[in-house]
Amino acid sequence: VPPPPATDESWTTRRLLAWMSDAFTKKGLDSPRLSAEIILAHVLGCQRLKLYTDVDRPASPLERESLRNLVSRALNHEPVQYLTGEAWFFGLPFLVDRRVLIPRPATETIVEHVLQHARAKAGGRHSGEGLLIADVCTGSGCIAIALMKNLPEARAAATDISGDALEVARTNAVRHDVAGRIDFLEGDLLAALDQHPSIGRRAALDYLVCNPPYIPDDEWDAVPPNVRNHEPHLALRGGADGMDYVKRLLTEGPAYLKPGGLLLIEVADSRAKPCRELAESIADLQNIQILSDIEALPRVIVASRAGA
Ligand code: GLN
Repeated sequence: VPPPPATDESWTTRRLLAWMSDAFTKKGLDSPRLSAEIILAHVLGCQRLKLYTDVDRPASPLERESLRNLVSRALNHEPVQYLTGEAWFFGLPFLVDRRVLIPRPATETIVEHVLQHARAKAGGRHSGEGLLIADVCTGSGCIAIALMKNLPEARAAATDISGDALEVARTNAVRHDVAGRIDFLEGDLLAALDQHPSIGRRAALDYLVCNPPYIPDDEWDAVPPNVRNHEPHLALRGGADGMDYVKRLLTEGPAYLKPGGLLLIEVADSRAKPCRELAESIADLQNIQILSDIEALPRVIVASRAGA
């Protein structure tokens, strides 16, 4: 981090932004200007647009102090979402910190597909009435919460092996006013669902969705430092082939679904083909598809439980 600014008046918004984007660019961070704007707006407690309507505003000593701290964390590749404590997913803001994976745009594919499927079945808008959804490995709660916001009468169970993650998910559910429709369960993958009075009896779910840890060991070294050094490994690493959790979900998941219910699992794009082949080998699953994410990479395995 460059030396502390000399006098209050000299450190205007304009100069701070230039200083930060320059430091971020030199460090090779993604979107240096945008990150600078997000961090400064966070410290000043204003919208990003305000930075440009008030470029000559001098920062106070206290503001410069918090800024220095956040800038040094950013230069250490800490994701900007952890610095501000906020990430956006499906048009909604979520609290995030080092306890949870930062929601990715790729995961919105799962939410979109469930909503489309539910609406197609209802022949239009779907209130979600009667729908029961499980979001396994919920992390920040982003999938379950985005679904509950868009299906205002549906209910969900959200599970995670990390009690810390569930606290974040609960906070997010309260923030979005859907906590009353989500049961949070702590436990290992599908086993967590067995504690749920209706889901534990099996064949109860309309949708079983999961963004499990799926980075294969052979891709770990190539994971960028902002992810590798800051996000929870428990939420990222999926074993030698990245399919440890995917295999369990594909084999044990169908029993939890109603006949015709959908299973959606996010996978490593490099493993989409073997994941699909595995799904095709399971008698309980049919209508297997791979959905592409926003970057057109094969990302989500979808299958329905046979017997509808
Ligand atoms: N898509 C994430 C990444 O590569 C991985 C998420 C996951 O393992 N579920 O950063």
